[in-house]
Amino acid sequence: MTVTDTSPADFPGASTSSITRIEAWRVAFPVEDRRDAAASADADPFNAASPTFVEIESLILRVTTSDGIHGWGECFGHRSNPATMAALQSMVIPFALGRGDDPQEFSTAASRTFHPFGRGGPVAYAASGVDIALWDIAAKRAGLPLRRLLNVETATDEITGYASLPSFMGESAPLQEAVAALRERGFTHFKLHETASKPMAELIAAEPDLSIATDMNGHWDHRDIETVIAEYAHLGLWFLEEPAFPVSDMGAMAALREAGILTAAGENAGDVEDLLHPSTLAGLSIIQPSAGKIGGVSALERIYAATSGGSQQVMPHCYYYGPAFFATAQVIAAHPEYPQIMESPYFNWLDTLHPLQQCTANVTLPAEVGLGFDMNVAAVGERIIDSFSS
Ligand SMILES: [Mg+2]
Repeated sequence: MTVTDTSPADFPGASTSSITRIEAWRVAFPVEDRRDAAASADADPFNAASPTFVEIESLILRVTTSDGIHGWGECFGHRSNPATMAALQSMVIPFALGRGDDPQEFSTAASRTFHPFGRGGPVAYAASGVDIALWDIAAKRAGLPLRRLLNVETATDEITGYASLPSFMGESAPLQEAVAALRERGFTHFKLHETASKPMAELIAAEPDLSIATDMNGHWDHRDIETVIAEYAHLGLWFLEEPAFPVSDMGAMAALREAGILTAAGENAGDVEDLLHPSTLAGLSIIQPSAGKIGGVSALERIYAATSGGSQQVMPHCYYYGPAFFATAQVIAAHPEYPQIMESPYFNWLDTLHPLQQCTANVTLPAEVGLGFDMNVAAVGERIIDSFSS
């Protein structure tokens, strides 16, 4: 079963209950301090892959319904969290309270109501988190893990994780050390956040059997795409993510594809329609919708359904460790005809919320109903840096 081939009332988690309460927490978990790399003049204080980050945030929601079921959601993310928290409090939570808890109906109504406030951005992130929580509730009500609510027949229970490393700011030795250590733990696929070709070339020479991608977060100017091709086409990268700014320049991305480079983007698409527009798809080999940004599980399901049989691979963005991580894993496992591989942020965590937070090469999905995520709020204690309750 997919979202697109069934009406909302048909799926087994459908209910007549309404949303009665939404709570939100910003939690922050500490990671290894890398002050030497953070001192680089190129370090970006707004990018969570930057070594300037010594703790990584998650904006976590708990939605409760009139029949007493609760579900967990997560909104993107990081430095935008205070703005997303404000969007939750002032707009999305007041909009959601009292509404029915059908996630698809919520998703459609939220998109229609909030579209004047931006396709993408904190309002959309806030609505995405509520959508994820409503799918958790729907699956719990159906008595199924979310992947089986989405695909009762062929959903898988294990997927591959690829390690998504923070930026080493072009420092070759510690990058190679980190990759070698993760290779020993079974990883075969890696995504770097490096922009210089030299450390990547050195890594690929040292580890020729590994699949190496890199996310440049729009580092290059789109007018310099021929230089990007000259520097990177011969490296044989697994894929190249958002190499040039603006990242929506699909002419530049199409030129990369023509040069034999697999291109990847999508986490910064405005909405589902933007991402699925033919002019966008023409530039992309791999599309990377982000559950906590583009509209939650409802949006991911629409994207999987719309690209079925097309030339793009779907490999969701997942720079999360909270409910959006679990939602992403559940949706990937519900689509075994697509790559069963998932971005797993690798940090040297000094404390964790749950065991799956430690990046693993094999992600075994929880057997529990719903997302399989739970948070003991009292136990998280000092990791909570802000909270709100309706
Ligand atoms: Mg990215």
